[in-house]
Amino acid sequence: MTDHATPATNTVQLNLDEVRSLAISVLLKAGLSENQALPVAQTITDCERDGRQSHGLLRLPGCVMTIESANFNATAEPEISEPTPAVVRVDARFGYSLLAFERGLPLLEKKAKALGVAVLAINNCFHFSALWPEVERIARVGLASMAMTPSHAWVAPSGGTKPVLGTNPLAFGWPRVDTDPYVFDFATSAMARSDIAMAGLAGQELPDGCGLDAQGQPSNDPAAVLAGSMTTFGGHKGTALSTMIELLAGPLIGDMTSRVSMDFDAGERAAPCHGELIVAFDPALLGGDDPVTNQQRAEQLFLGFTDQGARLPSLNRYRTRAQNDSSGIKISRDLYDRITSLGSKRTIH
Ligand code: NDP
Repeated sequence: MTDHATPATNTVQLNLDEVRSLAISVLLKAGLSENQALPVAQTITDCERDGRQSHGLLRLPGCVMTIESANFNATAEPEISEPTPAVVRVDARFGYSLLAFERGLPLLEKKAKALGVAVLAINNCFHFSALWPEVERIARVGLASMAMTPSHAWVAPSGGTKPVLGTNPLAFGWPRVDTDPYVFDFATSAMARSDIAMAGLAGQELPDGCGLDAQGQPSNDPAAVLAGSMTTFGGHKGTALSTMIELLAGPLIGDMTSRVSMDFDAGERAAPCHGELIVAFDPALLGGDDPVTNQQRAEQLFLGFTDQGARLPSLNRYRTRAQNDSSGIKISRDLYDRITSLGSKRTIH
């Protein structure tokens, strides 16, 4: 670690190995098994590397709170089954989603490459992470994919005033030749919950259309929206998309909706616990016998964007990655101190 103490600056410089080691040590100290801790630390590191701080080291306090919650299984070993030739089911057994994903991924790839399409259904997982690392990894082995997961019922449907839906992220990855995959990953709420909380801390108002207060009136006040309900993006269209995610990554795979997950949490404020659905497609099997033409069609589509100055999603991430891979990252001294003191109470008592 290089401590940039000049002039009593409030930042700490870390290379990516140090980020990973810091995350691992905090998670192990909190009582998480090594098998569970390694993929969590890796995804936190990947998010820091790509400049996605909202899902980086900032998440560690919440991870520790989750590990200490009653429903969480800190030593969970996922259980894999294959209910049909096209389906891999991984029961996370109330550990984090990330170890379940690691364990299910090789079979998902194998099945998609044999059948053209395959499904990874993860059940009973605690979920806090971004989805782009998963679809990007799948794209890098030549498969297109979609990933989705519910969360907690913080979001009112279009036309309603009471929270029913989660912030429900949807991610998509498409493999490209000789360049980074096309990847998008976003919440279906108009604004991410963490961004609303950060606006509140900074004393900022929210843009119009992000949420309602507890009386169901539109509000620009972050605290009022957090206590009331968030809204989906795009009115009824975002609401329908979010509902699809509830259904496909919930009842379809035998798991909880955001509302049921919130009841399951019983006010502990752990990460949401529910399912995750990932569907992988093999263009080599689905696209007929002219893969080169298919690739060219896809590239023409992307050129239609970039030729007119529009950017593709994930471009910012890839650019930040190229910089941070060599330079490492900086975090605030305050966050560093908060992280390094995590779990110490538990150790002392
Ligand atoms: P963002 O709005 O930050 O980004 C959404 C996507 O749009 C990114 O792929 C981004 O690419 C792209 N993008 C942004 N601006 C542009 C632009 N001008 N032109 C083209 N593409 C653009 O996402 P959210 O705040 O909605 O979500 C943040 C993260 O939170 C996601 O990773 C999501 O998975 C996660 N999340 C997780 C939940 C969970 O329960 N596990 C719940 C809700 C969200 P780029 O990165 O290059 O800017």
